[in-house]
Amino acid sequence: MKHDETRRLSDEYEVSNILGRGGFSVVRKGTKKSSSEKIHVAIKTLRRVGTTSNNPSGTPRTKVGGGDEGGEKSIAASIMGFTTLRQVSVSDALLTNEILVMRKIVENVSPHPNVIDLYDVYEDSNGVHLVLELCSGGELFDRIVAQDRYTETEAAAVVRQIAAGLEAIHKVNIIHRDLKPENCLFLDVKKDSPLKIMDFGLSSVEEFTDPVVGLFGSIDYVSPEALSQGKITTKSDMWSLGVILYILLSGYPPFIAQTNRQKQQMIMNGNFSFYEKTWKGITQAAKQLISSLLSVDPSRRPSAQQLLNHPWIRGDIAKDDQMDPEIVSRLQTFNARRKLRVAAIASVWSTTMFLRTKKLKSLIGSYDLKEEEIENLRIHFKKICANGDNATLSEFEE
Ligand code: ATP
Repeated sequence: MKHDETRRLSDEYEVSNILGRGGFSVVRKGTKKSSSEKIHVAIKTLRRVGTTSNNPSGTPRTKVGGGDEGGEKSIAASIMGFTTLRQVSVSDALLTNEILVMRKIVENVSPHPNVIDLYDVYEDSNGVHLVLELCSGGELFDRIVAQDRYTETEAAAVVRQIAAGLEAIHKVNIIHRDLKPENCLFLDVKKDSPLKIMDFGLSSVEEFTDPVVGLFGSIDYVSPEALSQGKITTKSDMWSLGVILYILLSGYPPFIAQTNRQKQQMIMNGNFSFYEKTWKGITQAAKQLISSLLSVDPSRRPSAQQLLNHPWIRGDIAKDDQMDPEIVSRLQTFNARRKLRVAAIASVWSTTMFLRTKKLKSLIGSYDLKEEEIENLRIHFKKICANGDNATLSEFEE
């Protein structure tokens, strides 16, 4: 992966349909032009939050403050290793973070069956383009709710793959920090397709960790120590995995409340339970495992490596009977609601730059969002505004 400012994405890739949108990005399918066999990739274009430097050419730049290097460097140039997150301006920090983390993954983890691979980086006036391994097998919960048969063994296999990916990144001091089902994609549609962890936009590499990178969207998967702004460690990802496992085996999340504030309190107190009606058919060892992953004290949570040696995760004692259809049906409802929320956030974010208050409000209204979801959007906006877009917050608060 080398950086050369004269290279253009369109020279090397045919860019086609949109695969998905995130809070800060659009992801499109791409096909390599110079190859005889069709090599497909995913191209994630990271948009810029505000302008950061005096740049008459109009090409996005990252202002590198002080330091020996001085001057301006393009964001893509940071993959060459001479920019640290602390040196770039706040607006560029989120953008740069993902590149720095991906660089560390490319150097120390790739190729790994459960971690997304980065092939290349380009930069132009549209933003920074990450050329990523294409995952065409769909999101984790989408596949589970679509299949006829679903067992504990399958849930264990899914968690085993996520744990394997986490083990690999944790080994090199990367904390994902945003682990949730929509960030776990299957590589292809085959039944035995590997599951990949992706979206390292909020991740931290020990030496680059910066408070600028914070919470977005749902707090469902966020650990108590992240909420209380304590020290975040690799064990924070293990908490998120505990939440995913709870949902996989019940169809609903462990912490449910009317407001975000109440939910936050429940998370910080580790206040969850296994309702007898739902959980009576689930193996005791799986429940014990969830309880240990959802320990408020991070030191009591198993590491990814320990998890991989757990007999239920290995599949030795997980039940192979079809799970209660109620669980799958609840998972379906939960998944549909979650997708709506993700769509709302992506849509509101992408339109905010252009819309005034009324339109924004009607947009939110049209999604019929719950109080909690509007609160999530508020948090999301606050973070965006903390990154330099003040007009947007006042529009939202009005
Ligand atoms: P977020 O708001 O969650 O931080 P983001 O801006 O970081 O999102 P991603 O979550 O990485 O963006 O990607 C947005 C969507 O694009 C994903 O939900 C997924 O549907 C699709 N996508 C991302 N990467 C890939 C990939 N490598 N292959 C296929 N689809 C992808």
